[in-house]
Parts: sequence; C-alpha cells; structure tokens
Amino acid sequence: MIKRLSFSALIMLALSLSIVAQDLTSPKQHFGFSIGDNYKLATYSQTEAYFKKIASSSDRVRLVNMGTTEEGRSQYMMIVSSPENIKNLEHYSEISQKLARAEGITEEQAKKLALEGKAVVWIDGGLHATETVGTHQLIETLWELVSRNDRETLNILDNVIILMVHANPDGQELVSNWYMGFQDTLKRSYNQLPRLYQKYVGHDNNRDFFMMNMKETRNISRQLYIEWMPQIIYNHHQAGPAGSVVAGPPYRDPFNYLFNPLVVTGIDAVGAAMISRLNAEGKPGYTERGGSSFSTWYNGGLRTTTYFHNMIGLLTEIIGNPTPSSIPLVPSRLLPNGNTPYPVMPQKWYFRKSIDYSLSLNYAVMDYAARNREHLLYNIYLMGKASIQIGNEDHWTLTPNRINAINSAYEKDQKNKKRADSTNNQKRTVQGTIPLKYYDVLFKDNSMRDPRGYIIPSGQADFPTAIKFINALIQAGISVSKASADFTVEGKNYKAGSYIVKTNQSFRPHIIDMFEPQDYPNDFLYPGGPPVPPYDITGWTPAFTMGFKFNRVLNAFDGPFQTIPYGEIQSPAGDFKPASGIAGYILDPGCDNSFVAVNDLIASGVPVFRIKTSGGTTTAREGSFFIPVSQKAKNVLEKASSRLSLRVISVDKSPAGLSAKLSPLRVALWDMYGGSISAGWLRWIMEQHDFTFSTIYAKEINAGELKKKYDVLIFVSGAIPAMPASEQRSSRDTTKLSDIPAEYRSRWGKISADTSVTMIRKFMEAGGTVITIGKSCSLAYHLKLDVSDALVEMNKGMLSPLPGEKFYIPGSVLRVTVDTTQTSCWGMESQTDVIFDSSPVFRIRPEAISQLKIKPLAWFSSDQPLRSGWAWGQQYLKDGVAAFEAKVGSGKLYAFGPEITFRSQTYSTFKLIFNQLYSGY
Ligand SMILES: [Zn+2]
Repeated sequence: MIKRLSFSALIMLALSLSIVAQDLTSPKQHFGFSIGDNYKLATYSQTEAYFKKIASSSDRVRLVNMGTTEEGRSQYMMIVSSPENIKNLEHYSEISQKLARAEGITEEQAKKLALEGKAVVWIDGGLHATETVGTHQLIETLWELVSRNDRETLNILDNVIILMVHANPDGQELVSNWYMGFQDTLKRSYNQLPRLYQKYVGHDNNRDFFMMNMKETRNISRQLYIEWMPQIIYNHHQAGPAGSVVAGPPYRDPFNYLFNPLVVTGIDAVGAAMISRLNAEGKPGYTERGGSSFSTWYNGGLRTTTYFHNMIGLLTEIIGNPTPSSIPLVPSRLLPNGNTPYPVMPQKWYFRKSIDYSLSLNYAVMDYAARNREHLLYNIYLMGKASIQIGNEDHWTLTPNRINAINSAYEKDQKNKKRADSTNNQKRTVQGTIPLKYYDVLFKDNSMRDPRGYIIPSGQADFPTAIKFINALIQAGISVSKASADFTVEGKNYKAGSYIVKTNQSFRPHIIDMFEPQDYPNDFLYPGGPPVPPYDITGWTPAFTMGFKFNRVLNAFDGPFQTIPYGEIQSPAGDFKPASGIAGYILDPGCDNSFVAVNDLIASGVPVFRIKTSGGTTTAREGSFFIPVSQKAKNVLEKASSRLSLRVISVDKSPAGLSAKLSPLRVALWDMYGGSISAGWLRWIMEQHDFTFSTIYAKEINAGELKKKYDVLIFVSGAIPAMPASEQRSSRDTTKLSDIPAEYRSRWGKISADTSVTMIRKFMEAGGTVITIGKSCSLAYHLKLDVSDALVEMNKGMLSPLPGEKFYIPGSVLRVTVDTTQTSCWGMESQTDVIFDSSPVFRIRPEAISQLKIKPLAWFSSDQPLRSGWAWGQQYLKDGVAAFEAKVGSGKLYAFGPEITFRSQTYSTFKLIFNQLYSGY
C-alpha cells in the first residue's frame, strides 16, 4: 500500500502526522462516545471544554467569546481557517467589512480587495436546542476541519474563514442533561422538558433578530453585522416535512421585494451545490422550494435578517435524533420532481446519518465558498454599492399594491371606454400587456418614492422608546447619525439630539423594512381557494408597533449630522433640571420608561400619584405621574433620568385631581409546564420595567383562594382553552408525573374550562382583576359575558366563523382607535398600531354598554385598518371591538384581542398592561 502512495499523499500523511503531534483530541476521546451515537448527547459544559481543548491544540482555530447568555454562560465562536489566515484575521475581517459596507470604494479597489480577501462563511448550531443535530454537527464539523488534511479541506482552509457559532449554550445544557438524565436509554426523550430552552423565549429566539431583545441575539448580530459580515450564513434546524430527510434552499415564494436579486440567485447557487453534493454521495431526501413551507419573506430570524444585509442566508431543516426514528411512507413524496429530485424511501433512521448529511451540506457550502471566493466578496460589494446608489436617487419599490394600482388605472379606463364605444376592441394584445402610460401611475408620482432617509425628533413624548429602536438598528450594523444642533428639513424644525437614518447605505433593505409597511402578496392555494399560511407573520414594521414619531424624507437632505461609529449603543442623558421652590415632578404616561422610574420610586418609598383630570394647574395630560418634591425623589429621578433617557418636568404647584397614592398590586403571570413563549416575553418585559410579579400555574389556580394572594392575574395567548372547549386534550396524565423531578411537579396541568375558570371567576367576584391577551380572551365566552365573536356569518341559519377564503389575517399590523379617556388606556395614542395574529374580535351587546357593564376600550373604526402585512377581508373588522373591560362581581376582566406584548416588539401597547398594575385610581 505504502509503495503506491503519491508524493502529495505522502505530504498529506506527513501533515497529518504533524497534526497528531499537535495532540488533537477526537470527540470520542473527549466525550466518551462518537458524535451521532444512538442515545448520546453532549452537554454544553462538555462542548465548551472541547472547544477550548481544540482551540489550545490546533493552529487552525481561534476561540472568540462573543458574550454571555441570558443564563450567564459564555457563548463562543470558533474561527477556523488555515494557520496563515488565523494569524491575519483582523486584516481579513477588515476586507470583509469594507466590501460589505461598500462605502467610498471603486469597482477597481473592490476587485483588488476581493482578490486579496478570504470568503467568510458562518455555520451555527443549536439555536433551537431540541433540534439536537444542530450542536452535534457543529462539534463534528469542527473536528473534521481541524483534523482532516485532504485536498478539499486544505483548499477550504486556505480560501475561507469559517465562523462556527454556538447559537444557544443554555439550551444545549438543559436539553442534553434532561435527555441523558434518564438511566433507561429507551426512556430518553425531550418531550417533557420542564421549561423553555432559552430562558425567556424558547423557539422565539429565532424571531428576535431585528429587535435585539435577547443577549444571544445581540452577541450573534455583533459578529454578523459589525465584526465579520459573512457572505454566506448557514443556520441549522430540524425537521423538514414528513417523507423528506432535509428541507433547504432555495425557498418558496414570496421572497421579499427589498432584496437585491444577487441574494436570491446566490441562494440558488449555493442551494444547487448543497443538493448536488448529496445526490453525488447517494444521499436522497433533500427537498427545496415548494417542497417545504420556508420562504424568505420574514425579517427577524437568524437566517432571514441576513437577506436584508445582502448576505446569502441558508436554513436547513433535517430529521434525526439520538433516539432512532424512521422515515414514514408519504406516497406524494415518492416520485421525483423539481422540488425533490431524489426522494428518500421509507426506512429506519439513525442520528449518525443526520450528522453525515450535515457534514456533507457544510462541506458543500464551504467548498462552494472556496471555489467562488472572489465572486462572493465582489458580489456583496456590488449589492452594497447598488443599495447606496438607489438611496441617493429617486427610487420606487414595487409591491403588490402598487402593481394593483397600475392594473386598476387601466381597468378603470377600459370601463369608461367600453361605455363610450360598445364595439370595444381594446384588449390586452399580448397576455398581460397594457399601454406603457400606466407605468406612470407610479413612476411619475413623487409621493410614492422611497425615502432618502428618516428623522426621529428628539423631545417627543416617548423618545426613550425611539432610542431603543435606534439601538436595534445600530446593532444590525446600520449607520445612524445624531444632530449636533437644531436644524430644519423640508420646512420642519428639529432639535439637537434628533436621530437621522439615511437610506444611502449598503444595508438599505433592512432600514426600509424597519420603517415601512410590508406588502404581502395575496397567496391562495388556487383562485378562490383557501389561503396559504405564511412561514411567519406577514407584517411587523417596528417603527409602527413601537409607537414613536418619525418623519420620512423623500428628497436629499442634510444638516449638522454626526455619524455614530458602527455598533455604538446610544444612551443619551434624559432631561432633568431640578430647581428649588418647586412642588414636584411630572412623568409622562405615554413613555414606557416612566413606569420604570415610577416602580423605582415606589420601591424607594417615594409617594407617586397620577393626575386623574387634566386642565388644572399643569398642562400635564391625564394619567401623568406626579411625584411631590423630596430629596429622595430627586435622587431616584436623577438616576432614572440619566439611565433611562427620561424627561422629568418640574412643576411649581401640585396639580389638582390627583389619585390616591399608588401602590403596586400583587400580580401573577400565568405560565405552564414546559414554558409558554408568550408568557416568557411578558416576563421579560415586566423585568425590564422593574415590575415585581409571581408566576402562577394551573395547579395553584385550581386550588382556589386566589384573592388572598393576588390582585391581578394575567393570561397570555395559549392559557385559556378555546370555546367550545370540546377538543381540549386531557392533561391529567399523572403517569408521567413520576418521571418529572419534584421541583417541577407544581407546574403540571392545564387551565380547564371547569375548575380553573370557576376559580378565576371567584377571584374576580372577590374584587380581583384579570387581564387576558389574544386567544385567552375566550375567558369572556366561558364567563358568558354579553360579548360575541364579530367574525362570523350566517350559514344555513347558523352563525359560523368566517372561512379563510373570506377573512384571513395571519399576523399583521392593524390600526385601532383607543378610548384614551379610560384610566386603563392612559398614555395611549388614540390611533394605535397593534399586532393582529388571527386575534379575536368582539361584538358587545348594546345593553351591556349602556348599563356600564362592559366598556369598549379599542375598536376598528375603519374598513381598511391594515398598516403592514396581509389582511384578506379586512372590511369585516369595521366596528369590531378589539379590547374591552367588563365588570365581574366586584372585580373586572380586561380582554385585549391583539397581541399587545408580541415578542416584546409592541412597545406602543405595553401600557395597556402597565396601567392595570397599580392601585390608587
Ligand atoms: Zn428550528
């Protein structure tokens, strides 16, 4: 055998011997089992130790601590490349940054940089911790890259810098310890995990990438958008549709209209490399495009936010678990077609197979990057350059509504013509062709142009929330400026400290997406048929749901603008000028951070009041907080003002119409065994705003006597069973209780339509307040209040819910009118944007309103409430009630139909919770 070895093979043998001399530890040596062995999972502690071990023994690796997680663990990125590249990482990251930002670089310079640079490829694992192939393929790929010396690996290492990122350390620790905790391997499972695999938000850790709420999101985004700007990002998940092994790129429509076409063709090209490699290696079962439900529409996922940054984002959803599984028989997936050229046949499936597939897919991506290094680097420059250019000129983004406007203008003329000329021979000569002049409907309309930039005025009531939005942009690599002096743009005056976001920058698609409505196309299975559910929500526009004020500027503009360095978080001091001889201080109720300050004041023993009627001695609006002057108040407010960018107004006289002194109510937030994601988001919001609260589970609710312990109970979507509750699954499955550690047993159980609802009713009758959000508003039906579903029609003499063909709003931003005179709505804007996610809408019996039993708080006053997304049949919403308050005994129920705490993105509606958490008014 030795005799037949070629010279290069001898070199490789020598190289591998030298590697062995570096004393590399294989996964089997470290973990005690091979990655992919049945019934074996590695914990994060073990994985972290392995990363460190490899980093200290391989010159192909640099270990980077990206930051800490929400549970306080270190989150690592392993940078893998050739030893020469590893020595020059700063140089290569600089080239990658320059090309991605494309600022002030000519095509010639870009070509030189592309020639000199290295392709940067991101491969992550473990974001969704129960998708255990994720972290395990990461460990195995790392091992392959540091230990292999074949030509392909060496070529990859020479040409590519691979960023191997652990996306969720806390989750791996939880899931692996849980799974391995069962001594009997056949019992190993992660079906009954007691809590979420990310401290607050579980699976929604992949819905946070434009808001940057969670620490892991910020750690990851810093590497993606500030430090490295990889040209390709590969985000590992599981599992794809039954009857496939893996679903991957390219994806089904709709793709987002803001993308540079090179993003889309880039996904096609890399996708082709991935599927071809599996086919060549005899690995069947990859499905693409319409073969799965994944699209590129949504921003906010780890993968999808990268598209808005000109990056080629890849997601695969693979099958496989350490507990062997099998591929079921799905006849419709057996014949090859364009989506699935090489179908997989039913068979038993082992974890190791999924690891092997993942290795092949990773290698396909890395090999593609190595072969196309210069193209990838140059193309991201071209995309950035194109973004800068269209941000510097008049530009119109085409959307379905705008195409409709062109068609409508044409059809209107045709109708008029038809009337004038009954022998009408005007028709579309070539299919779909209409006269060119209709193009002008859009392109001569200057008001339809995309903005050249946005101005967020300082001094507005909720400026601190605007700053949160600005920081989300900055953490996504967007360049933001701050005015150093007062200025005027298009006749509007702005104060120093205002923020400016211009769109002439490489990541322009992300800016437009954060400020402008999403216009989702009508998507039906067939004309007149049922709607096709989107991959995630269809509209999200954070600039709407955060509720701050901004102005769109359609023409070029300038001013005394100072560019903030990339990645520099903004935390401007608030406005607090304590004077002597004053009566006290006022905080605006429209500002979320006012509630933080109020909670801090109350915790320090400082009395706080609310102004119940405005128009007295101050100009403060109803619901404003008043704090009588004291040294202690001044100290707390001084700190709060600088920490929270808060404006504190000093007043000479105590306002009239004050409430009683505020006291925090005893609040319990519902949660469940395994963890509710919606409850987790609310828990995070409450913590961020310094509210104290308890968590309550079904078992405690069913035990009754709730009013002795609590004043307010909050139920997010998913808590209260639907009505009728016939399909409710029984949760009295006590057989599994013994498998659960004692510390979690009190969390077992679900809210029931009988016992739980009875106890909740008794709680209200005894004076308690219950807040229901979204689908948990069904409590009103269980309680038989005088409300009914507004989204129904008569069908064969029976009321039935509107079918999807008539009404479908799967997740969009809608506008509601709010009764701001109600104490529960203090600080709200009368026109507020809310997240509507197949949310309930009500009709209230008129007598119930006139007898003051039920008060509508928010309703749809228009037949076109859509602000962003997709709202098929939105006219049905007109006059429907979105939120109400009902008397129940001596207590009350608040029902908020829209998702008012959605993913901690809907800052404009948090106050609907906060206002209900104090006594005194
Ligand atoms: Zn996933």
